Amino acid sequence: MSADPIDRQIAELFANAGRILLVSHLRPDGDAVGAVLGLGLALRDAGKHVQMVLVDGVPSSFHHLPGNKEIRRKAEAPWDLSISLDASDLPRTGWAFGTEPPGLNIDHHVTNLNFAEVNLVDPTAEATCAILAERMPRWGLSITKPIAECLLTGIIIDTIGFRTSNMTPRALRQAAELMERGANLPELYRLGLVSKSYEAARYWGCGLGRLQNEDGLLWTVLRLSDRQAVGYNGNDDADLVNMLSGVESDLVVLLNEQKDSKVKVSWRAKPGLDVSKLALQFGGGGHPAAAGADIPGPFDEIQARVLAETRAFLAASRTEKGKAG
Ligand code: AMP
Ligand code: MN
Ligand code: MN
Repeated sequence: MSADPIDRQIAELFANAGRILLVSHLRPDGDAVGAVLGLGLALRDAGKHVQMVLVDGVPSSFHHLPGNKEIRRKAEAPWDLSISLDASDLPRTGWAFGTEPPGLNIDHHVTNLNFAEVNLVDPTAEATCAILAERMPRWGLSITKPIAECLLTGIIIDTIGFRTSNMTPRALRQAAELMERGANLPELYRLGLVSKSYEAARYWGCGLGRLQNEDGLLWTVLRLSDRQAVGYNGNDDADLVNMLSGVESDLVVLLNEQKDSKVKVSWRAKPGLDVSKLALQFGGGGHPAAAGADIPGPFDEIQARVLAETRAFLAASRTEKGKAG
């Protein structure tokens, strides 16, 4: 039995539930898909009736993951236990549980609002899948080869291939253990992170063509008309913001127009800046180096507001740094 009381509490939640619902966030990334599948398949192996739900479905870059076809867009009542994975607040789950808070919240965002009955939030973990890889055996769940593939994908995606500034030896050890359980790292890395469609590459071109550099603030926009023009099917940025974080700058902002008169904003910062605070100001969340928000309203207005706040944030952090130095 584990020494950490929350592990005992979680094992008990599982023992008392026959029907379990697992949900992750809107526009799911590899950590969201990997966590729902990794924990979902393990609970099924343990004899539970499992529902796995992603309101926006599974993006094509994760169609190779085992069990992904079983993920539904809507939950069907009843369930005994509901679990939120990799989501820092309830709206971010797309209200898949209804308005009731879930029984369990497992996440690694520093902005997590601890919105469930039981909350396991570890902001030092590189991915929700890293928390699962470490703790599932303590909850009596086995990590078989397909489960290892899902969990390793989450770690690869959230660390952008083991290179984000929060990387620890712990995550490398977890990855090594998942490989020992049969996960093929180069293949999962290639399929989940590197491989892109021709349409995605042309979509990047739309954003790259408009790229602006204002004294270390790099920004660009993607419009609905861009997706139509190049035939890109997703509603995300095809990872453009992560690519831009490799371009010399202090801060990157990408504004991505959404269908329902909303704008998805992504911020990326170099170490020393904490853009999760900026995202929180807009009702979003994330990590110090990578954060996002979904902001309702007309595109041009939001673009002006976001850029103004981001310029002010950058100017204030430079003044702070000047004082400190
Ligand atoms: P993204 O820019 O979408 O790649 O997200 C960067 C980080 O911010 C990820 O950890 C996301 O989970 C988080 N994030 C993005 N959008 C939101 C949002 N609307 N609310 C809370 N967290 C978000
Ligand atoms: Mn995520
Ligand atoms: Mn994550």
